[in-house]
Amino acid sequence: MSCSSVELQQKCTALTATWDGYCSTPTFENFVEFAVTLNSFAEFLIARGLSGLHHLGRDLEQVALALFGDERSHPIKPETMAELDQKLKGLVERVSDYIAANSRPREERRISTSPLAAPSDLQPVRQLWLVSQNEESWRDLIAQLGYFGIEVDIFRWDAVPAESPSVPLLLLDVAGLLTSEWSARIRTLRARFDASNLLALTVQTDFLSLQTALAAGCDYCFPRGTSLPTIVAKVLELNDSEEQEEYRVLVVEDSITAIKLIQRTLEENGIQSSAVSNPREVLDALKRYNPDLILMDMHMPNCTGVEAARVIRQHPQFLSIPIVYLSGETDVGMQIDALRLGGDHFLTKPVNPVWLNAIVKTKIERYRALRRSMFHDSLTGLLNHTSTKRVLDQAVSAAASDNGVLSVAMIDIDHFKKVNDTYGHPVGDQIIRSLAWLLKQRLRKTDIVGRYGGEEFLVGLPGTAADHAFEVLDRIRRDFSQIKHPFNETWFNTTFSSGIASFPAIESSEGLVKFADEALYQAKRGGRNRVMLPKRNH
Ligand code: GH3
Ligand code: MG
Ligand code: MG
Repeated sequence: MSCSSVELQQKCTALTATWDGYCSTPTFENFVEFAVTLNSFAEFLIARGLSGLHHLGRDLEQVALALFGDERSHPIKPETMAELDQKLKGLVERVSDYIAANSRPREERRISTSPLAAPSDLQPVRQLWLVSQNEESWRDLIAQLGYFGIEVDIFRWDAVPAESPSVPLLLLDVAGLLTSEWSARIRTLRARFDASNLLALTVQTDFLSLQTALAAGCDYCFPRGTSLPTIVAKVLELNDSEEQEEYRVLVVEDSITAIKLIQRTLEENGIQSSAVSNPREVLDALKRYNPDLILMDMHMPNCTGVEAARVIRQHPQFLSIPIVYLSGETDVGMQIDALRLGGDHFLTKPVNPVWLNAIVKTKIERYRALRRSMFHDSLTGLLNHTSTKRVLDQAVSAAASDNGVLSVAMIDIDHFKKVNDTYGHPVGDQIIRSLAWLLKQRLRKTDIVGRYGGEEFLVGLPGTAADHAFEVLDRIRRDFSQIKHPFNETWFNTTFSSGIASFPAIESSEGLVKFADEALYQAKRGGRNRVMLPKRNH
C-alpha cells in the first residue's frame, strides 16, 4: 500500500501528455494512446491501494472506454471533449493534493498514539485510525490489533484532525449517527483520504444502508454484529503489504518490429518482458528468464507456434505456464490445433493494446494463484510442509556458503486438542490463522515462516544467532499468550511452546529440524508456554 510520489507524478504527467496529444491532433490512434495510458494509470492506482483516487479515475475511464470502440466517432464532440477534460483536470488536481499531503515528514503527520499499542520486534508498526462515538466498545479490537503490531489512534467524529496525514486504514463506526449524517461525513473523509482504505463498522444490515456506505466511498462494510475476528482478519489482510513481483512475459516472435510494439505496450502497463526471435532458443530463454506467460507468434520460419508449444510442453516444469498465441484471423485450423494442446488464448494481429494488457494480466494472475496453491497452505497462506523444507535447505546452503548464521524454531500450540474439543474445530482453525498472522507480522520478509504440520510451525531466521532468535521467539510467545480469542460472550487464551537450534553448531537442515524438535519437546515437558534453547543446539 505504499506509493512513491515520484512514480505517481510521472504516471499522471504521462496521462496528461497523451490527452494533450489527442486534443491537438484528435485522431483515433492518439485516442488509443490516451485510453491505454489511462487504463494503465487506473491499474497502478489499484495496485498501490489508492482507492480514493481510483474512484475518480474509474469515472474518467468509463467515459473514455465508451468512445474507444468506434473509430468513426473521432474527433469526438466538443461537449464530450470538455467533459473528459474536466474530469481529467479534477483527477490531476487530486493527485497533486495527495502528493503535497504526503511529502511532509512522517513525524509532522502523527497526531496521537494509543497507549495500548504493543511494540513489534522487527517489522515497523502499522497505523490505523478508529473514528467512533463510543471508543469503549472497541477496547478488545484495539487490544487485539495491538498484539499484531498495529497501533490505533482514536477520534470522535467531530474531532477528526483537520490535518490529512497518510493513514492507510480508517475504521469508521457509524453507531449513534443518522444515515444522512454518517454518509455525508464518510464522503468528506473519502475526499480527504485518497489513498486509504475506509472500513465502515456497525452499519445496519439492510441493503440500502450497505449501498449508502459503499456509495459514500467505503471499501468494505461490516454490518452490525460482525464478529471481532472477522474485522481483525480484514485489517490484517489489508495490512499485508507484500509487494507483488512484477509480471514477466516471454515474447516469441520472428518480426523485430512486432517485438518492439508488443514490448512497448507491455512496458506501458508495468509488465516486464524478454523476447526471442528464434523459436529454437525458447527453452534456454524459459530457464533463464522464468516468465509467467509466453506470447507466441503463430507463424515463424522453421517452426510454427504450435510446434514450439508442443516442444515446451514436453518439459514438466513448463506444463502449466500459459501460452497466448498471436495469430491472423484466418488461422482457424491452426487455432484448433493450438487449443487441443492447451493453448490459453488467441490475440489477433494487429494486437489491440487494451486487450493484450487485460488478457496477459488475468492469465498471469490465475497462473500465480495456481502456483500459490501448490506451494502455500490454504488455511494460513504460509509455505506448506514441502516448500518449507525446500526453502530451509536453500537458506542453510546460503548460510554455509557465506559463513553466516541461521536459527530454526519449531513451534507447537499447547493442548490444542483440548481447544478443538472445547470450542470446536472452526475456532481451532481461527487460532492457527492468528498465530500465522502474528508470525508474519513480527518477522522479516527474508525470514521463513511455514506451516509444518497441523498446529506446528517452522520459523527460519537467516543471519540471526541463537540468542537473538530466542529473544524474538520469546517475545512472540508472550504476545500470543495475551491474545483474547473470542468465544460466545466471553474469550480465552492459548499458548505455544517452541524449541530452537542454530547453524553452524548444527550443520544440516534435517539436523536443525530434529534438534529444534527435541528442544520443543523439552519445552513441553518443562510445562509448556516456553521457548527452549539447549546448549548443544548453538
Ligand atoms: P501438546 O501441548 O502436547 O502439543 O498437546 P496437543 O493437544 O496440542 O497435541 P496433539 O499434537 O496431540 O494434538 C494436536 C491437535 O491439533 C490434534 C488435531 O486434531 C488438531 N489439529 C491439527 N490440524 C488442525 C487444523 O488444521 N485445524 C484444527 N482446528 N485442528 C487441527
Ligand atoms: Mg500441540
Ligand atoms: Mg502437535
